[in-house]
Amino acid sequence: MRSVRFCNPGEIKLENTPVPRAGPGELVAKCIVTLTCGTDVKMYKRGHRLIQPPQIIGHEFAGVVTEVGEGVKKFVTGMNIVSANSAPCNKCFYCSNGQPNLCDHLDECLIGFSWPGSYAEYVRIPERIVRQNTFEIPDNVPLEHVASLEPLACVVHGWDLVRSQPGGTVIVIGGGPIGLLHLQLAGLSGAKRVILCDIVDQRLEEAKKMGIDITTINSTLEDPAKLVADFTGGRGADIVIEAVGRKETWEMASRLVRKGGTLLLFGGCQRGTTVTFDADNIHYGELHLQGAFHHTPSAVERAFNLIVTKRVLIGPLISEEMPLEKAEDALKLMGEGKALKIALRPT
Ligand SMILES: [Zn+2]
Ligand SMILES: [Zn+2]
Repeated sequence: MRSVRFCNPGEIKLENTPVPRAGPGELVAKCIVTLTCGTDVKMYKRGHRLIQPPQIIGHEFAGVVTEVGEGVKKFVTGMNIVSANSAPCNKCFYCSNGQPNLCDHLDECLIGFSWPGSYAEYVRIPERIVRQNTFEIPDNVPLEHVASLEPLACVVHGWDLVRSQPGGTVIVIGGGPIGLLHLQLAGLSGAKRVILCDIVDQRLEEAKKMGIDITTINSTLEDPAKLVADFTGGRGADIVIEAVGRKETWEMASRLVRKGGTLLLFGGCQRGTTVTFDADNIHYGELHLQGAFHHTPSAVERAFNLIVTKRVLIGPLISEEMPLEKAEDALKLMGEGKALKIALRPT
């Protein structure tokens, strides 16, 4: 089969690799669509600690089951399915403590990282993921929409951690695909005012077309702190979501939260980054500084339902379609900020 493998930082290759076979409890699916993700772009540029080259990359996909491993009862060949990129072990300290997103063994079978990914004609789904995080796709749902199950599950999990009361002002920093998902969850949470802050006008304009009422701020032209203060009677936002992953935006975000509000630090910064926050602000303002990582099976299931019921729209996140051969061009376009997600068609 044709597959795209990561070889070295800045180098991926289209190669011929054997079609995988399903082991006990596993599935093999023909990959109908696979989406590019910001993590793929980072990995392409810098490599990743979990990737042993050469490795097939990609982890957001939907396809049709072609082989069912021994013991699998829920799925049959010909069924359209989607799965998340991981599943917890259910045995470790974190799994036993209700934090399966922090499972010590997630790395063992992480599709597109430690496990061969979906930038390929066929993908093999590990037993643990088949058992916990795989779903049959209803007939009327476009496969490229459900393929975004993983990022939406991460966003849903992030919202599980927000401790401020909904109903107020939510500001999302960063209008990439993840930011667009957060905007939609903010809308669903009942926020009174939803603000998107970005540095590219075109992204702000695109976000307005999603059908939720948002206010936009271009932070290169206007001071977000001043505008947020104006909108909130000087208080600051109830919930601030950082969806960029840079030191400067983490720090800026911390200055936009009201007393008692939540700052959800969603965008991962480069390894080794340190940030500076005003201690007075956090202490006297009782800020909830909340990191967010990965997803739980519960968040994955709710994300799946949000997509198939069309309460969260995925169409606006996908800017174009390309054949698998163009994977490298797709990652470069994304890296330059010229595309949101790109739907790759391996077959
Ligand atoms: Zn992803
Ligand atoms: Zn675990």
